[in-house]
Amino acid sequence: MTPMEKVNRFTKRELHEDEVFLFDVVLCDNDIDRDLEAFSEEALGSLKELLVGRTGILDHQPTAKGQTARLYDTALVPDPARRTRDGREYLALHGSAYMVRTSSNADLIREIEGGIKKEISIACACRDRHCSVCGQAQCSHIPGRTYGARTCYRVLDAVDDAYEWSFVAVPAQPAAGVTKQYQRGEAEDMDQKQEALLQEVETQLRGEVLAMCEQQGAVSKALTLAAEKMDLSELMALRSALREARAGTAGVQLCGECREEALGDYRQRL
Ligand SMILES: [Zn+2]
Repeated sequence: MTPMEKVNRFTKRELHEDEVFLFDVVLCDNDIDRDLEAFSEEALGSLKELLVGRTGILDHQPTAKGQTARLYDTALVPDPARRTRDGREYLALHGSAYMVRTSSNADLIREIEGGIKKEISIACACRDRHCSVCGQAQCSHIPGRTYGARTCYRVLDAVDDAYEWSFVAVPAQPAAGVTKQYQRGEAEDMDQKQEALLQEVETQLRGEVLAMCEQQGAVSKALTLAAEKMDLSELMALRSALREARAGTAGVQLCGECREEALGDYRQRL
């Protein structure tokens, strides 16, 4: 099958060669990445199948509207001349993608043709994330350390699904590489839930405190500006102070230091 025949498996109408831009990307590999994780070869094999037909988001400028490309082919490409950081044979998953040429993606296509550095990120679900030394999901081995002759890292295995990939040009970043997202384990899920809950509490509390600040007469503006930047514990302290003040006098009595800080913030903004 020719590349155009492969492309046309995914298009509504048959596209002609000069209507599309074809380019290759390295989607991921089996090397240990900066998060001290590495895909197993089996995981790369699953991703090879799962990513075909998947849409990628191409974002050459953070402010620009995302543009998309689709993978029409993938291939596992070994590089006998290269070894992974821990000495295994290097294996990469390459993708071939197409974009339909439009006036709005002409600049992006020129950048890709010009060979700017790119950062690829793939979103996939991994059921298994285990230690390279002992094979356990939970253990006391520390990623990045070596145990005997073995380097400890997390092996990403059992890929269930691949959702999308993104391609971000990062001309300013010297060492662009591959990043990935994967389904988190239960412990990380809990951390995330707690984090989200704390965030929600903080948002609610900030709203409550800001409403109280509005009623503080001459210092309300300064207090509002200060409260906007406070963390959870500072917000709680301020709420207590404001409640006490409400119970006592009409205005709030901040301690000298807090007042100076609040006013300082305020003056800086003027
Ligand atoms: Zn271990």
